[in-house]
Amino acid sequence: MGKLVIDASKVNAQTAAQLVALCPFSAITYNGETLDISAACKMCRLCVRKGPAGVVQYIEDTQAPTVDKSKWQGVAVLADATGGTLHPVSFELLGKAKELAAVTGQPVMALLLCDQAADMPQKLIERGADTVYIYEHPMFRDFCVTTYANAFEDFIQKIKPSAVLVGALSRGRSLAPRVASRLRTGLTADCTMLEMKENTDLVQIRPAFGGNIMARIITPRTRPQFCTVRYKVFSAVAPNHDAAGTVLRMPVSDSWQDTRVTIESAEMKPPEKDISEADILVAVGRGLKSAADLAKVQAFCSAIGAQLACSRPLVEAGWLDASHQIGLSGKTVRPSLIITLGISGAVQFAAGMKSADCIIAVNSDPAAPIFDIAHYAVVGDLYEVMESFLKKAEEHSHET
Ligand SMILES: Cc1cc2nc3c(=O)[nH]c(=O)nc-3n(C[C@H](O)[C@H](O)[C@H](O)COP(=O)(O)OP(=O)(O)OC[C@H]3O[C@@H](n4cnc5c(N)ncnc54)[C@H](O)[C@@H]3O)c2cc1C
Ligand code: SF4
Repeated sequence: MGKLVIDASKVNAQTAAQLVALCPFSAITYNGETLDISAACKMCRLCVRKGPAGVVQYIEDTQAPTVDKSKWQGVAVLADATGGTLHPVSFELLGKAKELAAVTGQPVMALLLCDQAADMPQKLIERGADTVYIYEHPMFRDFCVTTYANAFEDFIQKIKPSAVLVGALSRGRSLAPRVASRLRTGLTADCTMLEMKENTDLVQIRPAFGGNIMARIITPRTRPQFCTVRYKVFSAVAPNHDAAGTVLRMPVSDSWQDTRVTIESAEMKPPEKDISEADILVAVGRGLKSAADLAKVQAFCSAIGAQLACSRPLVEAGWLDASHQIGLSGKTVRPSLIITLGISGAVQFAAGMKSADCIIAVNSDPAAPIFDIAHYAVVGDLYEVMESFLKKAEEHSHET
């Protein structure tokens, strides 16, 4: 990665005005004397290519770090063992890690931080880990981000995995960037696809610029390559009960507990119904006229045994809380059936639900983009569709 350099001798009111108008990200400012480029810069280099000649130049960074990739081997998965139970995202990541590791012929590893490992290592082996590295100690009973990060860093320094996959749950989201920054390496959050090159570079693919492009990101000059992946983005492989693997217990240092964080008490949140787990979902959008009408949608959900979800505008309006939101900035869902009511199907919404087995879309606009991904399209008023369905369901219950 290079950097932008401004030639101050070429800055004047005219060249500055051209550059300020040119930058699509409003990253260039001029105060009458100095031209500045802010952190909003996305390095699109439009100012270099299309701006007044020589004012902004791109300088290739010749001091970029290099790494001996042969010293970093294998794909590691951080197992999420909240409350002594493995979260299914760990299995999904192990399935993907196996695919990726097959390209380079390197091993798949699982890292387990817990106070009691019990049968968790065996479960990780059954889902694809060749080796499970366990840090087992009471210090890992409650989640303290610094204690966990110390152990995570120890694992990476000793084992040197080439790539590390972390579930984008609350633990993973706080640990991965912390450890990546300690190791001065790259991290790509919320990847939706991963590919492995033969030279062990991991291609981390995720939506960017509001979901309008799919960015392909690599970390070619440092190791390990960190990425996070949300739950339900990849499919878990079925357990292989005959699988054999190695379990290695790693030494734990008491000093890892010396942090500035004190956990006074920790309580498990009562399990809430997560839309990512639902088998049938009804997602409602801005086609709904008022918050009061949510009661009708809820009745519809109850009639068909579905869980309620929504698009972002309903969360922004305060009609439903963020745990209901599907999409790029919400949750990824993969139900066997999703019915969308009054949702246009913007890319940011579709990114979170297009892998559903069956999509039924209800929208009054026949040109709504949701119909491009729906298996069944109902062009009509969502209220009428819900009512006629509920009527039919009632008639059916009287008949039986
Ligand atoms: C960076 C970024 C991240 C984003 N993340 C998300 C995200 O995670 N999730 C998300 O949902 N959005 C997200 N968005 C917003 C997204 O771009 C859309 O604005 C949003 O999804 C639109 O929601 P909607 O379909 O409910 O509303 P609209 O686009 O307004 O669509 C309403 C639809 O209802 C239909 N309609 C109206 N009345 C009726 C009726 N009576 N019967 C049937 N149909 C009716 C209309 O024809 C229309 O198609 C994000 C945007 C950005 C820039
Ligand atoms: S590189 Fe692109 S984003 Fe950065 S200042 Fe130039 S035009 Fe703006």
